[in-house]
Amino acid sequence: MTLLVVLAAPGANAEWVGDARPMMGTEVSVYLWSDDPEAGRQALEEVFQEAARIDRLMSTYRDESEISEINREAAGRPVVAGAELFDLIQRSLDISVLTRGAFDITFDSVGQHYDFRDRERPTADIVAAERAFIDFRLVTLDRANGTVRFEQDGVRINLGGIAKGYVVERGIDLLRHRGLEHAIVTAGGDSRLLGDRRGRPWMVGIRDPRKEGEVAISVPLVDEAISTSGDYERYFDEGGVRYHHIIAPSTGEPAEGVHSATVFGPDAVLTDALSTSVFVLGVDEGLTLIGTLPDYESIVIDAAGKVFYSAGLMPPDAQAVEAP
Ligand code: ADP
Ligand code: MG
Repeated sequence: MTLLVVLAAPGANAEWVGDARPMMGTEVSVYLWSDDPEAGRQALEEVFQEAARIDRLMSTYRDESEISEINREAAGRPVVAGAELFDLIQRSLDISVLTRGAFDITFDSVGQHYDFRDRERPTADIVAAERAFIDFRLVTLDRANGTVRFEQDGVRINLGGIAKGYVVERGIDLLRHRGLEHAIVTAGGDSRLLGDRRGRPWMVGIRDPRKEGEVAISVPLVDEAISTSGDYERYFDEGGVRYHHIIAPSTGEPAEGVHSATVFGPDAVLTDALSTSVFVLGVDEGLTLIGTLPDYESIVIDAAGKVFYSAGLMPPDAQAVEAP
């Protein structure tokens, strides 16, 4: 899901440098303010290279990635994972506990049978069989040895619901270490902001889930992360049903009831995983979960187009307002 970022008019200020490239099955973009445009362009390049590095580690579409090796081997023996991948898998399992299984990287036993470009989906029999392997408790981590092991043949993991948040978090870290103070890094539906837009907040648009290119709500943000999960980017419609890429672990089918879930807060890894989680949990459970997390807020657009806000964004007593 592409977040629409409203920037200064092009050319209005030569010292904002930016670029966007197709990567990780989506678009990665970087915009930053630099006193020295040449150094700024080097900084952009560094972020894109970092995104490419993480993708090589974590993409299930690459046979040679570390995660693909884990998926091939970990049911048979513990597989050593690099510290970075190990840590992200550990965080994913922790988030599964936090979300009571709504976020679950083992969704991929079912998820692997979808091809949204070719409009392919698993039959009911395949879903019924593969669902048994969606359970984060079937993934065992051994921190002392740095290994990952699956407790059953048939388990697969996929970090698609958290890796882009990690990319934007790492990208902003690199820029901060270069001394930059104003930047935005976006990967698909995940953005991390560094500082403000030079005296004004960044305005991040949450798109209208059913009107391509239109913004439903703009959120002013400074130094924060924001992630949106929606059913409108990778999907196909068939027989009046929208088959999309966010799987409810409890059913093995695409989650119903929500068109988009946005979460913002300090850490993009968490906002990414939580936007997917709130999408799966639905309005009530999702916003209740967010209410328990200090510093995190959420905006959910349900299947009727109604907009719901987490308690921290709402005046007391108000519960929902109609979409504009
Ligand atoms: P995007 O990838 O467009 O930023 P999300 O952050 O919502 O959107 O991530 C959706 C991706 O998360 C899916 O494409 C899939 O790789 C993965 N995923 C789907 N269902 C789940 C789930 N229940 N738990 C964890 N990851 C999931
Ligand atoms: Mg997400």
